[in-house]
Amino acid sequence: MHNLLKNGENMWNDKRYHTLDYELKKIFGEKAIKLSIDGSFTCPNRDGTIGIKGCIFCSERGSGDFNSDRNISITNQIEEQKQIMSKKWKSNTYIAYFQSYTNTYDSVENLKKKFYEALVCENIKGLAIATRPDCIDEQILELLEELNSKTFLWIELGLQSIHDKTAAFIRRGYDLEQFEKSYELLKSKNIRTVVHLIVGLPTENKEQYSETLKYIAEKEIWGIKLHMLHILKNTDLADYYKKNNFKILSRDEYVNIVCDSLELLNPSTVIHRLTGDGKKSELIEPIWTLDKLKVLSDIDKELKLRDSYQGKNFSL
Ligand code: SF4
Repeated sequence: MHNLLKNGENMWNDKRYHTLDYELKKIFGEKAIKLSIDGSFTCPNRDGTIGIKGCIFCSERGSGDFNSDRNISITNQIEEQKQIMSKKWKSNTYIAYFQSYTNTYDSVENLKKKFYEALVCENIKGLAIATRPDCIDEQILELLEELNSKTFLWIELGLQSIHDKTAAFIRRGYDLEQFEKSYELLKSKNIRTVVHLIVGLPTENKEQYSETLKYIAEKEIWGIKLHMLHILKNTDLADYYKKNNFKILSRDEYVNIVCDSLELLNPSTVIHRLTGDGKKSELIEPIWTLDKLKVLSDIDKELKLRDSYQGKNFSL
Protein backbone atom coordinates (compact mmCIF):
# COMPACT_ATOMS: atom_id res chain seq x y z
CA MET A 1 0.00 0.00 0.00
CA HIS A 2 2.80 2.45 0.71
CA ASN A 3 6.48 2.55 0.16
CA LEU A 4 7.58 2.17 3.76
CA LEU A 5 10.79 0.26 4.14
CA LYS A 6 11.38 -1.72 7.29
CA ASN A 7 13.98 0.69 8.63
CA GLY A 8 11.49 3.55 8.34
CA GLU A 9 13.47 5.45 5.68
CA ASN A 10 13.07 6.18 1.96
CA MET A 11 9.37 5.95 1.55
CA TRP A 12 8.86 8.54 -1.16
CA ASN A 13 12.52 9.08 -1.96
CA ASP A 14 13.76 11.04 1.01
CA LYS A 15 10.37 11.91 2.49
CA ARG A 16 7.87 10.22 4.77
CA TYR A 17 5.01 11.61 2.73
CA HIS A 18 3.97 11.46 -0.90
CA THR A 19 5.31 14.70 -2.34
CA LEU A 20 4.28 16.31 -5.62
CA ASP A 21 7.96 16.40 -6.58
CA TYR A 22 8.16 12.61 -6.16
CA GLU A 23 4.95 12.05 -8.12
CA LEU A 24 5.89 14.30 -11.04
CA LYS A 25 9.42 12.86 -11.31
CA LYS A 26 7.86 9.40 -11.47
CA ILE A 27 5.58 10.53 -14.30
CA PHE A 28 7.95 12.74 -16.31
CA GLY A 29 11.30 11.19 -15.47
CA GLU A 30 12.67 14.54 -14.28
CA LYS A 31 11.71 17.44 -12.08
CA ALA A 32 8.58 19.24 -13.28
CA ILE A 33 8.59 22.98 -12.65
CA LYS A 34 5.36 24.87 -12.05
CA LEU A 35 5.06 28.26 -13.76
CA SER A 36 2.53 30.56 -12.13
CA ILE A 37 0.40 32.24 -14.76
CA ASP A 38 -2.15 35.00 -14.39
CA GLY A 39 -4.87 34.41 -16.98
CA SER A 40 -6.52 37.82 -16.33
CA PHE A 41 -9.63 36.27 -14.84
CA THR A 42 -11.69 37.65 -11.99
CA CYS A 43 -13.80 35.88 -9.39
CA PRO A 44 -17.59 35.73 -8.84
CA ASN A 45 -16.90 36.34 -5.17
CA ARG A 46 -15.36 39.69 -6.08
CA ASP A 47 -17.18 40.97 -9.14
CA GLY A 48 -20.58 41.12 -7.42
CA THR A 49 -22.05 37.88 -8.79
CA ILE A 50 -21.71 36.19 -5.41
CA GLY A 51 -19.96 38.87 -3.39
CA ILE A 52 -17.85 41.99 -3.77
CA LYS A 53 -15.35 41.59 -0.98
CA GLY A 54 -14.03 38.13 -1.77
CA CYS A 55 -12.94 35.53 0.75
CA ILE A 56 -11.85 37.14 4.00
CA PHE A 57 -8.19 36.15 3.54
CA CYS A 58 -7.91 36.81 -0.20
CA SER A 59 -5.11 39.16 -1.21
CA GLU A 60 -5.39 41.94 -3.77
CA ARG A 61 -3.99 39.63 -6.45
CA GLY A 62 -6.55 36.89 -5.87
CA SER A 63 -4.16 34.59 -4.05
CA GLY A 64 -1.64 34.75 -6.88
CA ASP A 65 0.99 36.96 -5.30
CA PHE A 66 3.98 35.38 -7.02
CA ASN A 67 2.59 35.44 -10.55
CA SER A 68 3.74 37.38 -13.58
CA ASP A 69 2.09 40.58 -14.69
CA ARG A 70 -1.43 39.85 -15.97
CA ASN A 71 -1.06 42.51 -18.64
CA ILE A 72 1.45 40.50 -20.62
CA SER A 73 0.48 37.58 -22.82
CA ILE A 74 0.39 34.05 -21.48
CA THR A 75 3.19 33.05 -23.85
CA ASN A 76 5.39 35.87 -22.53
CA GLN A 77 4.51 35.11 -18.91
CA ILE A 78 5.59 31.52 -19.50
CA GLU A 79 8.89 32.62 -21.06
CA GLU A 80 9.51 35.07 -18.22
CA GLN A 81 8.77 32.42 -15.57
CA LYS A 82 11.00 29.90 -17.33
CA GLN A 83 13.90 32.37 -17.21
CA ILE A 84 13.37 32.95 -13.49
CA MET A 85 13.00 29.26 -12.64
CA SER A 86 15.96 28.16 -14.78
CA LYS A 87 18.25 29.98 -12.31
CA LYS A 88 17.05 27.58 -9.64
CA TRP A 89 16.34 24.32 -11.48
CA LYS A 90 17.60 22.60 -14.61
CA SER A 91 14.73 20.79 -16.28
CA ASN A 92 12.74 20.82 -19.50
CA THR A 93 9.44 19.83 -17.99
CA TYR A 94 7.00 22.58 -17.09
CA ILE A 95 3.45 22.74 -15.78
CA ALA A 96 1.54 25.96 -16.53
CA TYR A 97 -0.28 26.85 -13.33
CA PHE A 98 -3.27 29.16 -13.68
CA GLN A 99 -3.36 30.35 -10.12
CA SER A 100 -4.83 33.83 -9.58
CA TYR A 101 -8.54 34.36 -9.00
CA THR A 102 -10.98 31.85 -10.58
CA ASN A 103 -9.50 30.30 -13.68
CA THR A 104 -12.67 28.79 -15.14
CA TYR A 105 -14.71 31.97 -14.70
CA ASP A 106 -15.02 33.08 -18.33
CA SER A 107 -16.62 31.99 -21.58
CA VAL A 108 -15.57 28.55 -22.80
CA GLU A 109 -14.10 30.20 -25.93
CA ASN A 110 -11.85 32.49 -23.90
CA LEU A 111 -10.84 29.71 -21.54
CA LYS A 112 -10.00 27.45 -24.44
CA LYS A 113 -7.90 30.16 -26.09
CA LYS A 114 -5.90 30.81 -22.94
CA PHE A 115 -5.34 27.20 -21.92
CA TYR A 116 -4.26 26.20 -25.42
CA GLU A 117 -1.96 29.21 -25.68
CA ALA A 118 -0.16 27.81 -22.63
CA LEU A 119 -0.24 24.23 -23.87
CA VAL A 120 1.50 24.96 -27.17
CA CYS A 121 4.46 26.67 -25.49
CA GLU A 122 7.69 24.71 -25.61
CA ASN A 123 8.08 22.01 -22.95
CA ILE A 124 4.73 22.66 -21.28
CA LYS A 125 3.82 19.12 -20.30
CA GLY A 126 0.83 19.81 -18.09
CA LEU A 127 -1.76 22.29 -16.84
CA ALA A 128 -2.88 23.10 -13.31
CA ILE A 129 -6.05 25.17 -13.00
CA ALA A 130 -7.22 26.71 -9.72
CA THR A 131 -10.93 27.42 -9.53
CA ARG A 132 -14.14 27.30 -7.47
CA PRO A 133 -16.55 24.34 -7.49
CA ASP A 134 -19.41 26.67 -8.49
CA CYS A 135 -17.53 27.66 -11.66
CA ILE A 136 -17.55 24.27 -13.35
CA ASP A 137 -20.64 23.80 -15.52
CA GLU A 138 -21.32 21.16 -18.19
CA GLN A 139 -19.54 23.06 -20.97
CA ILE A 140 -16.51 23.80 -18.85
CA LEU A 141 -16.39 20.22 -17.72
CA GLU A 142 -16.34 19.19 -21.38
CA LEU A 143 -13.39 21.50 -22.01
CA LEU A 144 -11.55 20.14 -18.97
CA GLU A 145 -12.21 16.60 -20.18
CA GLU A 146 -10.75 17.51 -23.56
CA LEU A 147 -7.67 19.06 -21.93
CA ASN A 148 -7.32 16.02 -19.70
CA SER A 149 -7.12 13.79 -22.77
CA LYS A 150 -4.35 15.94 -24.28
CA THR A 151 -2.14 16.76 -21.32
CA PHE A 152 -1.41 16.10 -17.67
CA LEU A 153 -4.14 18.11 -15.95
CA TRP A 154 -5.17 18.82 -12.42
CA ILE A 155 -7.86 21.12 -11.02
CA GLU A 156 -7.47 22.87 -7.66
CA LEU A 157 -10.49 23.64 -5.48
CA GLY A 158 -10.27 25.90 -2.44
CA LEU A 159 -12.53 24.17 0.06
CA GLN A 160 -10.65 25.25 3.23
CA SER A 161 -13.17 23.60 5.60
CA ILE A 162 -16.30 21.41 5.52
CA HIS A 163 -18.00 23.44 8.26
CA ASP A 164 -20.83 25.86 7.42
CA LYS A 165 -19.88 28.28 10.18
CA THR A 166 -16.38 28.59 8.78
CA ALA A 167 -17.65 28.87 5.19
CA ALA A 168 -19.79 31.83 6.34
CA PHE A 169 -16.88 33.39 8.26
CA ILE A 170 -14.48 33.19 5.34
CA ARG A 171 -17.28 34.29 2.92
CA ARG A 172 -16.55 31.37 0.63
CA GLY A 173 -19.89 31.72 -1.14
CA TYR A 174 -20.72 28.08 -1.86
CA ASP A 175 -21.76 25.15 0.29
CA LEU A 176 -20.34 21.69 0.82
CA GLU A 177 -22.98 20.17 -1.43
CA GLN A 178 -21.66 22.28 -4.31
CA PHE A 179 -18.13 21.08 -3.61
CA GLU A 180 -19.26 17.44 -3.56
CA LYS A 181 -21.19 17.82 -6.80
CA SER A 182 -18.25 19.35 -8.69
CA TYR A 183 -15.72 17.01 -7.17
CA GLU A 184 -17.80 13.97 -8.21
CA LEU A 185 -18.22 15.40 -11.73
CA LEU A 186 -14.45 15.84 -12.08
CA LYS A 187 -13.87 12.37 -10.67
CA SER A 188 -16.37 10.84 -13.08
CA LYS A 189 -14.24 12.23 -15.92
CA ASN A 190 -11.00 10.98 -14.34
CA ILE A 191 -9.78 14.53 -13.82
CA ARG A 192 -7.31 14.88 -10.98
CA THR A 193 -8.47 17.18 -8.18
CA VAL A 194 -6.41 18.97 -5.58
CA VAL A 195 -8.17 20.39 -2.51
CA HIS A 196 -6.91 23.33 -0.45
CA LEU A 197 -7.47 23.28 3.32
CA ILE A 198 -6.61 25.99 5.84
CA VAL A 199 -5.28 25.16 9.30
CA GLY A 200 -5.73 27.63 12.16
CA LEU A 201 -9.01 29.33 11.24
CA PRO A 202 -10.38 31.33 14.21
CA THR A 203 -13.80 29.67 13.95
CA GLU A 204 -12.37 26.19 14.40
CA ASN A 205 -10.69 24.06 16.99
CA LYS A 206 -8.43 21.11 16.31
CA GLU A 207 -11.33 18.63 16.27
CA GLN A 208 -13.23 20.57 13.64
CA TYR A 209 -10.18 20.80 11.43
CA SER A 210 -9.68 17.09 11.93
CA GLU A 211 -13.25 16.40 10.73
CA THR A 212 -12.46 18.22 7.50
CA LEU A 213 -9.27 16.24 7.07
CA LYS A 214 -11.06 12.92 7.63
CA TYR A 215 -13.73 13.89 5.11
CA ILE A 216 -11.00 14.53 2.53
CA ALA A 217 -9.13 11.34 3.44
CA GLU A 218 -12.24 9.29 2.70
CA LYS A 219 -12.77 10.89 -0.69
CA GLU A 220 -9.68 9.43 -2.43
CA ILE A 221 -8.76 12.89 -3.58
CA TRP A 222 -5.70 12.97 -5.87
CA GLY A 223 -3.92 15.84 -4.14
CA ILE A 224 -4.05 18.15 -1.16
CA LYS A 225 -2.59 21.51 -0.21
CA LEU A 226 -2.44 22.39 3.48
CA HIS A 227 -1.97 26.03 4.41
CA MET A 228 -1.47 27.70 7.73
CA LEU A 229 -3.88 30.65 7.88
CA HIS A 230 -2.02 33.73 6.64
CA ILE A 231 -3.07 37.17 7.75
CA LEU A 232 -2.09 39.48 4.93
CA LYS A 233 -2.09 43.27 4.91
CA ASN A 234 -5.09 45.00 3.29
CA THR A 235 -7.41 42.04 3.77
CA ASP A 236 -10.59 41.92 5.85
CA LEU A 237 -8.95 39.16 7.86
CA ALA A 238 -6.27 41.67 8.90
CA ASP A 239 -8.99 44.02 10.23
CA TYR A 240 -10.69 41.12 12.00
CA TYR A 241 -7.40 40.13 13.58
CA LYS A 242 -6.74 43.69 14.73
CA LYS A 243 -10.13 43.81 16.44
CA ASN A 244 -10.23 40.29 17.87
CA ASN A 245 -6.59 39.36 18.27
CA PHE A 246 -7.44 35.67 17.95
CA LYS A 247 -4.92 32.98 18.79
CA ILE A 248 -2.40 32.14 16.10
CA LEU A 249 -0.99 28.63 16.11
CA SER A 250 2.66 28.30 17.01
CA ARG A 251 5.03 26.51 14.66
CA ASP A 252 5.10 23.47 16.96
CA GLU A 253 1.31 23.29 17.11
CA TYR A 254 1.08 23.56 13.33
CA VAL A 255 3.75 20.90 12.79
CA ASN A 256 1.87 18.51 15.06
CA ILE A 257 -1.42 19.10 13.26
CA VAL A 258 0.25 18.54 9.89
CA CYS A 259 1.83 15.28 11.07
CA ASP A 260 -1.53 14.08 12.44
CA SER A 261 -3.06 14.97 9.06
CA LEU A 262 -0.43 13.08 7.08
CA GLU A 263 -0.99 10.00 9.22
CA LEU A 264 -4.71 10.10 8.41
CA LEU A 265 -4.39 10.61 4.66
CA ASN A 266 -4.43 7.90 2.03
CA PRO A 267 -0.77 7.14 1.10
CA SER A 268 -1.71 7.64 -2.56
CA THR A 269 -2.81 11.26 -2.01
CA VAL A 270 -0.19 13.60 -3.43
CA ILE A 271 0.95 16.32 -1.04
CA HIS A 272 1.23 19.52 -3.03
CA ARG A 273 2.00 21.81 -0.14
CA LEU A 274 2.42 21.68 3.60
CA THR A 275 3.15 25.32 4.23
CA GLY A 276 2.01 28.43 2.36
CA ASP A 277 3.98 31.20 0.69
CA GLY A 278 3.25 34.59 2.16
CA LYS A 279 5.09 37.59 0.76
CA LYS A 280 7.27 39.03 3.52
CA SER A 281 6.13 42.56 2.74
CA GLU A 282 2.46 41.53 2.94
CA LEU A 283 2.43 39.09 5.85
CA ILE A 284 1.23 40.23 9.28
CA GLU A 285 1.09 36.83 10.97
CA PRO A 286 2.27 34.15 11.52
CA ILE A 287 5.80 35.40 10.97
CA TRP A 288 7.27 31.95 11.56
CA THR A 289 5.78 30.78 8.23
CA LEU A 290 8.38 32.88 6.42
CA ASP A 291 10.99 30.27 7.30
CA LYS A 292 9.48 27.58 5.10
CA LEU A 293 12.53 25.30 5.28
CA LYS A 294 12.36 25.25 9.06
CA VAL A 295 8.66 24.29 8.97
CA LEU A 296 9.33 21.49 6.49
CA SER A 297 12.36 20.19 8.37
CA ASP A 298 10.39 20.23 11.64
CA ILE A 299 7.67 18.15 9.95
CA ASP A 300 10.32 15.65 8.81
CA LYS A 301 11.81 15.54 12.30
CA GLU A 302 8.45 15.06 13.99
CA LEU A 303 7.48 12.20 11.65
CA LYS A 304 10.81 10.55 12.34
CA LEU A 305 10.39 11.00 16.07
CA ARG A 306 6.96 9.39 15.89
CA ASP A 307 8.38 6.67 13.61
CA SER A 308 5.49 7.64 11.38
CA TYR A 309 4.58 8.35 7.76
CA GLN A 310 1.66 9.33 5.52
CA GLY A 311 -1.16 6.84 5.81
CA LYS A 312 -0.07 5.29 9.09
CA ASN A 313 -3.57 5.81 10.51
CA PHE A 314 -5.44 5.72 7.22
CA SER A 315 -8.38 3.38 6.96
CA LEU A 316 -11.23 3.26 4.46
S1 SF4 B 1 -12.46 32.31 -4.48
FE1 SF4 B 1 -10.24 32.66 -4.57
S2 SF4 B 1 -9.98 34.52 -5.82
FE2 SF4 B 1 -12.15 34.41 -5.21
S3 SF4 B 1 -12.24 35.68 -3.38
FE3 SF4 B 1 -11.94 33.55 -2.69
S4 SF4 B 1 -9.70 33.30 -2.50
FE4 SF4 B 1 -10.09 35.17 -3.69
